[in-house]
Amino acid sequence: MKSITTVRSTIVALALGGIAPVASAKTTPVGPPTVEVTSRDVAASNAKVKAAYDALINMWSADFKQIGEQFAAPRLARYRSPIRTSCGVMLPNNAGYCSADNTVYFDDIFVAAQAKSAARALGTDGDMAGLGVIAHEMGHAVAIQLGHESRLSYDNEATADCLAGAFAQHAQVDKSLEQGDVEEAVFGMSSAGDPTPQLTGNDRVDQRILARMERVGHGTREQRVQNFRNGLQGGAGACLAEFRGMRS
Ligand SMILES: [Zn+2]
Repeated sequence: MKSITTVRSTIVALALGGIAPVASAKTTPVGPPTVEVTSRDVAASNAKVKAAYDALINMWSADFKQIGEQFAAPRLARYRSPIRTSCGVMLPNNAGYCSADNTVYFDDIFVAAQAKSAARALGTDGDMAGLGVIAHEMGHAVAIQLGHESRLSYDNEATADCLAGAFAQHAQVDKSLEQGDVEEAVFGMSSAGDPTPQLTGNDRVDQRILARMERVGHGTREQRVQNFRNGLQGGAGACLAEFRGMRS
């Protein structure tokens, strides 16, 4: 199959950020080097994204109903070149949720590359590393629709990561989660973490570095993995108070 593009999977650092952090997403890239993505890879990835999207809408609609709310299902929009949205321009190699038009945008080549990088590293099909991106963006929609939007970027990212974990738990209960999926999701999140801050030992400088990470960051790898695990183990109730005590 002819390769349609080469995606630097190091750009993963931007993936799980949502729309808001895009402008400031010039974090130092981490993660494995390049993978080549064929049009067949992208087609297979898109089919899985569609199935995961349907499962996400079903899950969150049911969960919202249980707490007496109604989930407004976000649209799902693929793109490859820069696209204008109600939240500004979405650039390639990214994904994001825009609440102003209630849409999850994703670069489909980028998501396919996530899966392929995970597949290569773990020896599995890698799909959950890509789907985790969609589940995370859907997590932003869930949180925002319930009125949770912190001024601190890290809080929003932690909640979205946790809700992505809750989706993985749900998929596990449904028996639709395959062997290796959890490892893949954690792999995707790990590659997507902000670099661990290099502290200087100077208290004032370090305070500033840490405060900045809280404003613009998605969290370190360790934090992201932990946030995902919280949702995976505790379900949506571990992420947002509204879902606490809900039967799963
Ligand atoms: Zn995000």
